[in-house]
Amino acid sequence: MADGAFGLSPATEAATAAIWPKVRDHVTPLEWPAQAELIVEINRLKRERNAVILAHNYMTPDIFHGVGDYVGDSLGLAKEAAKSDAKVIVQAGVHFMAETSKILSSDKTVLIPDLRAGCSLAASITGADLRLIKARYPGLPVVTYVNTTADVKAETDICCTSANAVQVVEWAAKEWGVDRVILIPDEFLARNVAAQTSVGIIAWKGRCEVHERFTVDDIAEMRAAYPDAEILAHPECPEEVLAASDFAGSTAAMSDYVTQRKPKQVVMITECSMASNVAADSPDTRFIGPCNLCPHMKRITLENIRDCLLNMQFEVTVPEALIEPARRAVQRMVDLPPPAVPARYDMIKARHHVDVELI
Ligand code: SF4
Repeated sequence: MADGAFGLSPATEAATAAIWPKVRDHVTPLEWPAQAELIVEINRLKRERNAVILAHNYMTPDIFHGVGDYVGDSLGLAKEAAKSDAKVIVQAGVHFMAETSKILSSDKTVLIPDLRAGCSLAASITGADLRLIKARYPGLPVVTYVNTTADVKAETDICCTSANAVQVVEWAAKEWGVDRVILIPDEFLARNVAAQTSVGIIAWKGRCEVHERFTVDDIAEMRAAYPDAEILAHPECPEEVLAASDFAGSTAAMSDYVTQRKPKQVVMITECSMASNVAADSPDTRFIGPCNLCPHMKRITLENIRDCLLNMQFEVTVPEALIEPARRAVQRMVDLPPPAVPARYDMIKARHHVDVELI
């Protein structure tokens, strides 16, 4: 067989021709032949195993564009997987995401390519901690961010994402007939939600180690260096970072902002791969740093995805007793009417003096 561009076989070149333009700014021509072969091998193994790959927005572009069957945020991925006929789910993301997939698809085999892919936020709280919180605040609803383990979800009344947290908090307060709710585990998300609602918030001191590192000085430096750039921040960042930005919203909201408004220059204050993946579909926008890498997300590679499918490793299970209560908490959120567009955190209308009770 004659070799084509990059020394690829004609079959590999044909199979990856549409992928290369999306990854070319992030993969060197030297790396591409090996990656292209892996992508072809993984896509063949998926068919053989009747598997789908759920690729989170924070996966590197070779995974996101090369092998992801569903791409997006963690909840969107789990919902898509539940609808799929596939027998096997490979979670290209972190462990709590694989658990969420198992909770919503308990009949499927859920695999994660590296069991060490954790999350500082999910690790900040356990089901036992939450039981103590509930005993301290009887009668208040518990709203839990999806970035939590199954045992925490099982103690939860309703889950939320950064795209619908304000809506869920207000729904829970109304449904329970109370003026305060418990919103865990991300302190900054809780503070940013509190600025958008009159419902009182009781929060936990969990942090995302990627988003907590951004500072107002980072934003000021960006503004000085790139005065025309539009700055978008994720609500897991400190509230003063959001206040200094032009727009704040979930990963889906940020992605929509760029693809619909097509800014000439943009700074995404979030995980690095997010900007790389949006950039592939936004050729008219220039993406500028800074960004921070999530070390947990970066444990997932094309190599270990290939090994995962080859050896059917590593299976993620959730104890039977936790599946139903955890599923109920997720399902309650899914059953709420979805926002017409992923919610933005309105920095102009934000309340500036909000009382958040930190546990
Ligand atoms: S980016 Fe933050 S919240 Fe997401 S997996 Fe990494 S540590 Fe957890």
